[in-house]
Amino acid sequence: MPSLEELGITPATAGRLQKLGLHNAFDLVLHLPLRYEDETRITPIRDLFFGQTACLEVEVVDSEMLFRPKKTLRARVRDSSGSLLLRFLNFYGSQVRQFTAGTRLRVFGELRQGHAGPEMVHPRYRILRDEEPLPQTLTPVYPTTAGLSQATLRRCIEQALRSEDLSDTLPESWRIRLGLPLFRDCVMLLHHPAAGASHRELDDRTHPAWHRLKFDELLAQQISMRLHYRERLSYKAPRLKPSTTRRSKLLEQLPFRLTTAQERVLREIDADLGKAHPMHRLLQGDVGSGKTVVAALACLQAIDAGYQAALMAPTEILAEQHFRKIEQLLQPLGIPTTWITGSLRRKDRLAAQEQVASGAAQLVIGTHALIQDPVAFKALGLVVIDEQHRFGVEQRLALRRKAEVAGFGQPHQLMMSATPIPRTLSMSYFADLDLSVIDELPAGRKPIVTKLVADSRRAEVIARIRQTCLQGGQSYWVCPLIEESETLQLQTAVDTFESISQEFPDLRTGLVHGRLAPAEKSAVMERFAQGDIQLLVATTVIEVGVDVPNASIMVIEHAERMGLAQLHQLRGRVGRGATQGFCILMYHPPLSELARTRLKVIYEHADGFEIARQDLAIRGPGEYLGARQSGTPLLRFADPEQDGALLEQAVQAAADWIASDTEGARRHLKRWLWSRQEFLTA
Ligand code: ADP
Ligand code: MG
Repeated sequence: MPSLEELGITPATAGRLQKLGLHNAFDLVLHLPLRYEDETRITPIRDLFFGQTACLEVEVVDSEMLFRPKKTLRARVRDSSGSLLLRFLNFYGSQVRQFTAGTRLRVFGELRQGHAGPEMVHPRYRILRDEEPLPQTLTPVYPTTAGLSQATLRRCIEQALRSEDLSDTLPESWRIRLGLPLFRDCVMLLHHPAAGASHRELDDRTHPAWHRLKFDELLAQQISMRLHYRERLSYKAPRLKPSTTRRSKLLEQLPFRLTTAQERVLREIDADLGKAHPMHRLLQGDVGSGKTVVAALACLQAIDAGYQAALMAPTEILAEQHFRKIEQLLQPLGIPTTWITGSLRRKDRLAAQEQVASGAAQLVIGTHALIQDPVAFKALGLVVIDEQHRFGVEQRLALRRKAEVAGFGQPHQLMMSATPIPRTLSMSYFADLDLSVIDELPAGRKPIVTKLVADSRRAEVIARIRQTCLQGGQSYWVCPLIEESETLQLQTAVDTFESISQEFPDLRTGLVHGRLAPAEKSAVMERFAQGDIQLLVATTVIEVGVDVPNASIMVIEHAERMGLAQLHQLRGRVGRGATQGFCILMYHPPLSELARTRLKVIYEHADGFEIARQDLAIRGPGEYLGARQSGTPLLRFADPEQDGALLEQAVQAAADWIASDTEGARRHLKRWLWSRQEFLTA
């Protein structure tokens, strides 16, 4: 496909196009209008109504410059039916000269009521020299950037439409079977719809031409994911066969029996680990469904086969908690656990690295510090990544580099997430992963009681907390979220802690927040876990994974500021033990529409999947995509949720196509993904 240079575009313009992510002719072809302007008809001035956007053909009567209150160029224009004013606030000297009496203009703008009668402010206009025919098609308005005019952008796109190969990539028989119009016709139509085209269908993107483009895009994504998947099967990984004795021993030690769902996902993981190519499995399970023990069993399998296992968590609090729990499980089996985080003292860190490199460390638990250089594993067989959507691109890259160093192939990967991914998303963005779902909570869990309380009733909440704590229970008090500033967040946490300590002189209180030194953080968490702290004031650092079963009440201040996933995660910290869990969502009225919707959802639903589905409907897919891995093409046109039917067709079509004609499928992929920037690039 032609480059921008080959299209005859100047370097200056090309630079601006690149800012828009447009690097070649096909990118320009797919740079579709935001909306259209209808210049196919001239409206007489007399027929205009206020608020209408219309095209006029007029003659300048006179013009003047005003200097007060602001420098303004004002021109009176007329047609045979009436007159109005055009007003410009920022203008060039050359424009002033253009508005001489008798000049004929074609003007496009919105009619407003001004101080001196009907006017258009900053209309687009063009001087008419000869008779100029009206355009036959709607005028596209494109997303653009500073210094790139619509006219220039249109010219570039026209050029691309002329020189780019717009033939169909889809086999003709399928295209007809699926009832899709030709690709060429679709892009031509979307760039210049005929005068009578349905504005609504174009604006809502429900027009058949839009359908075709969305389908093509979804199809490209599916092909990419499937090829990815196939490629992974061609990589080598160590086969990890378990020694059943140590596993049974571990299971016997547990104070509970695995749920049916835990057993099922464990079988799925076992089967993958026994294969000679790397597992990439996403283990989903709602908060409290018991993913940790599954992870420990998988690690044991790697260790039994003579390899190392690593478990990585997004925060120190969580990593440390995993360390404690898993160490407790594995120590009786004679397996030592090594701990690596950024906050280890240099000497300890060097010692840990040494053990990792020699293979003496069989299980390594920590934060992302454990995949950072210079930690070199001797034989890494399995990596478990908890709350994997919390890790960024950099860390995923580092993990990949680590894998390459391993030499004997890639380690298996088990990614865990308590953020349930709605089905449409797992069909689209997560299609290259295998999925296991723990869809059952351990028996005997009582559903958490959620209360919505205006903050004017704070005194009642306080009484409630006091009662619970004096009876031997424990509580969390979650500080308001201040997203804009870390400093303010810290201040808020400290202030909240002070006021809480004053309100509860009779309770042992503690404070944990993100800026605390790791050692202090873990000391506070330890005291809370031991029951020494009765009431823990916390920021959202406790959002993920923290497991203190005796804590049964959580108060969330300014719950209206938090997102749904966050509220669900926070709430999951209580109701983990035998006592009834309570979550008190305190809000500050009046609530915005959005906050009201969110609180209603969290109040009415306990099921993480349902909450995630509603969240997706409210916010779109952005939140989930953190969990994605490298090379995932992001969708620009299609929306897996709204275009579910097209997605199902694309899933099927991609499978058929790759099976019957891989090269054809690759051609389609190449057309769609060539040089696109909308990739996660790790
Ligand atoms: P999550 O999936 O949120 O990471 P955890 O692994 O932290 O959940 O488990 C939550 C709690 O449930 C822990 O205290 C754990 O010991 C307990 N647990 C896990 N599996 C079971 C089970 N099958 N029966 C009873 N309790 C269980
Ligand atoms: Mg967990």
